[in-house]
Amino acid sequence: MKDNIRVAVVTGASSGIGRAIAEALVVHGYRVTLMARRSDRMEAVASSNAGATLVAPVDVRNEQKLIRAFEVSQEHWGRLDVLINAAGLAHESSLTDGSTDEWREMLEVNVLALAVASREALRRFDREKGGHIVHMSSMSGHRVTRRGAMYTATKFAVRSMAESLRCELRDSGNPTRVSCVSPGFVDTEFFETYFKGDQEKIQRVRTGQRILTPEDVAASVVHILEAPEHVEIHDVLMRSNEQLS
Ligand code: NDP
Repeated sequence: MKDNIRVAVVTGASSGIGRAIAEALVVHGYRVTLMARRSDRMEAVASSNAGATLVAPVDVRNEQKLIRAFEVSQEHWGRLDVLINAAGLAHESSLTDGSTDEWREMLEVNVLALAVASREALRRFDREKGGHIVHMSSMSGHRVTRRGAMYTATKFAVRSMAESLRCELRDSGNPTRVSCVSPGFVDTEFFETYFKGDQEKIQRVRTGQRILTPEDVAASVVHILEAPEHVEIHDVLMRSNEQLS
């Protein structure tokens, strides 16, 4: 592979924002390893981007399998330059009577797996040049909402971990950049999980307000990655100008 071709791992690449980012990165000349559980969805992305993508199916909650997926990516491409942490989910689950299993799933995917993936990426970035890690955070990482308390807690954690990781990297002289994107509503399957398939509630999000598309978010990620090497964009807060909440 040519020296100037960069390689990205994108988690959550089977759907929504992760998928749109993976496709945008291919357009911008990256080689991309797609990670998520649904391999049929990722194969569909790969089939229209032959040669530029690798499908590595994984449940990111399984640490050993997640590490193995990074090894498979490294064996295939021989390098890693960018990690996009887009795997994530929300359940509408209150602190007063929510389900522990739902809380655990959000914490494991949104927080723990993001930390494991970031560590594994850092181990594979070029020692001198570093790399770039982009976390998919949320407006829910910036203000508390009346619903989805545990989800909000996970996104506050993402924001906090991004700041802490940046401090660790600067202290150790590692030039790796860490960025977050914090969108409001984005039109993806996210709401299927959040509202447990309740179509009336799902449609309400889209009624009376235009919301962001996954491609809007992907364009911001490309902007972050294509900034000059010394420019580290910390966070991009973005909502549709019609979002009511
Ligand atoms: P989608 O539901 O469309 O995509 C979620 C992705 O995460 C899928 O690819 C899914 O893959 C993956 N994922 C979930 N659980 C696991 C798991 N255990 N192992 C591996 N992959 C997993 O939602 P979005 O694209 O909207 O969400 C992407 C990110 O953006 C999330 O972090 C979300 O919190 C954030 N976000 C979304 C907003 C929105 O309004 N949509 C707003 C703000 C932030 P699979 O099921 O195949 O495993």
